[in-house]
Order: sequence, then structure tokens, then C-alpha cells
Amino acid sequence: METSSREIIRCTRCRMQQYMTQTQRCRRCSGDLLPPPPPPEPEQPQSSQSQTVAASSLMATRLRLVRRCRHFSQPELAERAQVSQQFISVMERGRSRVTLETLERYARALNLPLHVLFAPAPQFERFLQKQGMV
Ligand SMILES: [Zn+2]
Repeated sequence: METSSREIIRCTRCRMQQYMTQTQRCRRCSGDLLPPPPPPEPEQPQSSQSQTVAASSLMATRLRLVRRCRHFSQPELAERAQVSQQFISVMERGRSRVTLETLERYARALNLPLHVLFAPAPQFERFLQKQGMV
């Protein structure tokens, strides 16, 4: 008559590999044969909505430049973009991480398309010229 559990298991005390015994005790040292609990589940990655981008110094320079060309003060822009004035100040120093959602609102408040914010310099300068900002 076969026993139900024929899986090879390792003694938690002496590390000897063996089949599970009726008593769930090691044949050699009578240590515990119960397998250790499974490792905890890895944390789920955060949803893409909270994906953040780092404000680079280039981005910071462009954000400050466009804000000044639009003649917005930091408080005015903060109100338009629905963020804190502190946040604008930190972003313009390139010292922050921002969610894409917030960055989009920020750029929209400046009438600055996101793709232009990240565009190569010539394209960004053409945008400024078209907007009459240089
Ligand atoms: Zn053992």
C-alpha cells in the first residue's frame, strides 16, 4: 500500500533529503520535516497611472522659460495647473519626480505640448519661435 506523500523533502535541522515520514519527523535526527512556508508574494508593480518621470535640468529650464514667456508667475501657474507653488518651484530646479498625469496638466497650463517639452533642441526652439516667445 502506497503512502500518499512520496515527495522528497529536506530535514529543517540536519538538511538530509528523504521522503516524508508518517510522523513528519526526520529519520536521522527526528527534526521537523515540514517544508518551510513559501516565500511572500513579490509586491505588485504600481499601476501605470502612477508612473513617474524625473525632472531633468533640461526639462526644468524649458518649463521655467515657457512660464516666463507666458508671463505667468509661479503662483498663477500653480493655480492653472492645480499644483502647489512649492511644486512648481521644485520642478523648475529639476529636483523632483512627477507623475505623467501631473506633468501633462502642468504642460497644458503652459500651452506646451508634452512632446515639445521632450523634443530635441531645434524642435523646441521652433516651437518658441512659432509662439512668438523668442
Ligand atoms: Zn534531520
